[in-house]
Amino acid sequence: MTPDDALRRVIHCLDRSLASPYKVRAFTRAREVVRDTDPVELAERARDDRLTDLDGIGDATAGVITEALAGVVPSYLAKLEEETAVVVTEAAAPYRAALRGDCHLHSTWSDGGAEIEDMAATAIALGHDYMVLTDHSARLTVAHGLDEERLARQLVEIERINAGFDEEGIDFRILTGMEVDILEDGSLDLADSMLARLDVVVASVHSKLRMESDQMTRRMVAAVASPHVDILGHCTGRKVGKRPQSQFDADYVFAACAQFGTAVEINCRPERLDPPRELIDLALEYGCHFSIDSDAHATGQLEWQPIGCDRAAQREVPIDRIVNTWPAADLLAWTG
Ligand SMILES: [Zn+2]
Ligand SMILES: [Zn+2]
Repeated sequence: MTPDDALRRVIHCLDRSLASPYKVRAFTRAREVVRDTDPVELAERARDDRLTDLDGIGDATAGVITEALAGVVPSYLAKLEEETAVVVTEAAAPYRAALRGDCHLHSTWSDGGAEIEDMAATAIALGHDYMVLTDHSARLTVAHGLDEERLARQLVEIERINAGFDEEGIDFRILTGMEVDILEDGSLDLADSMLARLDVVVASVHSKLRMESDQMTRRMVAAVASPHVDILGHCTGRKVGKRPQSQFDADYVFAACAQFGTAVEINCRPERLDPPRELIDLALEYGCHFSIDSDAHATGQLEWQPIGCDRAAQREVPIDRIVNTWPAADLLAWTG
């Protein structure tokens, strides 16, 4: 394990435990320093205990680098591997085993912390056949959302990466997509011509979450009725213990999801756990499809699907109603 490998794995583990961004940043910064430092110099500094003289290397990161160079698994990493392992409950296990992909995740193109290739490598290691890259749309400026032009460039980049998988005989596809903002009037933050080019479109509300209920209901129904929208992302917008659910008439919204073939996302982020249980029950009653998505913004967060699997199991969601248990070809046939 090289220092770079060790630091990357530390970051992965920190991210899957939703550690503070400051802590993650310290290791990300150390990784940059390692990459920019001559390996011989790095080894000498480790030997003489002078790593912390480098700007961006502290005691914890120096320890990881030194032990990795010595050819052992850094103790800090070994401890993290254990402490941050994502639990797969007995109920969640069959659901997790059935998942073939992840339909909602981000990269550095918007507000994610990892490159597309790193997200894909992790998805492959998790046993997935595909992942849908769903970076944010332009309206979400804080998340560095993609406008049409950047999205078009991303599509070319995905094609290039997929061609690489073909060449190497890796049976994995990155499907194209976007987490498109649902604007206040229910229209979508991307032109129809671009939406039509994408394999899978997740639509989410990120602004005016406190809108009055009737207006929010109209807004969401309009969005899920769009023939381009395939999945309704984190429908209530809640953040557990921090932000209440948006107010809307869930009967109308889920009836529309069922009517127009839009799946209801079971968002696995520990701070979201959205929709709440009673809304999963209601969506089930309406005959909706579901998608169990990590909404990962870092490689470690791709490991969060068992959290949503457990919730799906508790509410007895039939596995065949979960669109990302389907092979990519079936998923694509369904999204049109
Ligand atoms: Zn979102
Ligand atoms: Zn997202």
